[in-house]
Amino acid sequence: MNNKKINILTVENIHLSFALPVLRGVSLNLDEGEIVSVVGPSGCGKSTLLRCIAGLQQIDKGNISIRGIDVTHVPAYKRSVSMVFQDGQLFPHMNVAKNIAFPMRKISSKEKRQRVRELLELVDLSGFEKRGIDTLSGGQASRVALARSLARGGDVLLCDEPLAALDVALRMSLSLSIRKIVKNAGASCVYVTHDGEEAKRVGDKVVRMDEGVLHPMQLK
Ligand code: ADP
Ligand code: MG
Repeated sequence: MNNKKINILTVENIHLSFALPVLRGVSLNLDEGEIVSVVGPSGCGKSTLLRCIAGLQQIDKGNISIRGIDVTHVPAYKRSVSMVFQDGQLFPHMNVAKNIAFPMRKISSKEKRQRVRELLELVDLSGFEKRGIDTLSGGQASRVALARSLARGGDVLLCDEPLAALDVALRMSLSLSIRKIVKNAGASCVYVTHDGEEAKRVGDKVVRMDEGVLHPMQLK
């Protein structure tokens, strides 16, 4: 067993202001296969941090690197990052299989079908290929959204409150499934939530965000 940690993502002292400062010197490290949860109240800057990592938002100051390569000025489409949003953002006019296969590129349809089957198995939705998005429950839709993000297969998986629309009981059980799915996929993940319990259930580590500042890592 090789215990050497491989650094996947480094966020160094990033700052961003709109009318007011939103990120005020945020630093974060993510190792390969690790899940770091970021927990904080609404409006503290969690989504903005993820958007900066994904390259959807330029930062004023600081650096972001992925696998040791500075991507601070690299556009979103060239970053090896995938994101799961709060509302899932599944394409309503495509079935489950087409949604999951959407980010896959340059592979044959046979390989795509096989990969979709594997991903559906991973999220415990085997046989759901042909189902319409409007026939899924909230929990099933969250898992399809996660499968679609894993299908992209980037270095960093960013989850922006993927369970926020669900009720507390479902959120609690699904947060454990999400942890298992992400671990089984071997993904490295920054997981954002406003719910402290969910943060602990999903993450290997939990960091707290407060008004644009991340507080030092607390081990679980
Ligand atoms: P969270 O995800 O923690 O709820 P956000 O990152 O969405 O918080 O927002 C943090 C703050 O930044 C909020 O005050 C929000 O209004 C502000 N903000 C986010 N994006 C923009 C933007 N594009 N323009 C102006 N203000 C923004
Ligand atoms: Mg948010």
